[in-house]
Amino acid sequence: MAVIVSGKELAALGETSLKNKKVSLGLGVILVGDNPASKVYVANKEKAAKRVGWNTFDQKLPANSTFEQVASAIEKFNSNKDIHGILLQLPLPKGLQSEKLIELIDPNKDADCLHPINQGYLLRGNTKLKPCTPAGSLHLIDLSFHLLAGGEFKYEVPKKDLTGLNAVVVGRSILVGKPMALMLQERNATVTMAHSKTKDLRSVCRTADILVAAVGVKELIKSDFIKPGAIVIDVGINRDENGVLHGDVDFNGVKKIAGAITPVPGGVGPMTIQYLLENTLLCSG
Ligand code: NDP
Repeated sequence: MAVIVSGKELAALGETSLKNKKVSLGLGVILVGDNPASKVYVANKEKAAKRVGWNTFDQKLPANSTFEQVASAIEKFNSNKDIHGILLQLPLPKGLQSEKLIELIDPNKDADCLHPINQGYLLRGNTKLKPCTPAGSLHLIDLSFHLLAGGEFKYEVPKKDLTGLNAVVVGRSILVGKPMALMLQERNATVTMAHSKTKDLRSVCRTADILVAAVGVKELIKSDFIKPGAIVIDVGINRDENGVLHGDVDFNGVKKIAGAITPVPGGVGPMTIQYLLENTLLCSG
């Protein structure tokens, strides 16, 4: 049976370590419209910032805001010295050009690491900021190896040398799949990216020592997709008709085969928030 690797507990340890640094930072959050999921994500991010003793600045704009109104909110936050990291919650309402708006965020305050300058640094392998969900997932991968080797559950764990290991990332979005693949490759894993056009996903996944699912299809990854002992990181968040959250991985089946697995909820989600805070700290330095 797999080790269940709790991102919720790991993020709680990370928050304690940030709180103990006793620095006073500011996180600026821009939410446009009233997408219910976005409202919950923003509230959770603001709560986490407050728990570590930081200030939050929020700008909530109506769904029918113009490009110029959102741009002006970004520019206000760019020039506010009390704000160290800026988060523009995505997705934006239809009609607003997300990419152009992200480009207006000061790259030095880009807490989500979505600005093309920071993505360019990531491609070159010399990034300071790291995209939050892949960074949180990589931390969970390191912790998984550490636990499987008999180590204790703690926040600071050694970075595992992934030389000789096969990683498969299912999903190739700019937000998760692509940066995840780059970061695993940077750590010397041999990486395969799978997507909706991949033939025989099951066989591709069965090659993985590390499998990251970032798809958005409820329980797509079944137990017969898993190499025995593999580390399985489930990024997916899929809400069913009863409002219950499911990952991209069939957790109950896969946990019988995998070496380690992250749950949904309580896996990658809290670590995404933790890396928003980690990036804000890096932005301040
Ligand atoms: P996108 O919709 O942008 O990308 C989904 C990717 O999955 C695409 O590359 C798509 O392929 C691929 N895909 C879709 N269907 C299949 C399939 N049947 N087989 C193989 N690949 C498939 O999603 P995101 O990357 O933004 O998010 C992915 C999931 O992660 C979502 O559930 C999202 O809610 C969740 N998420 C969770 C976060 C967290 O903090 N836990 C943070 C961000 C996202 P193609 O490119 O060919 O279309």
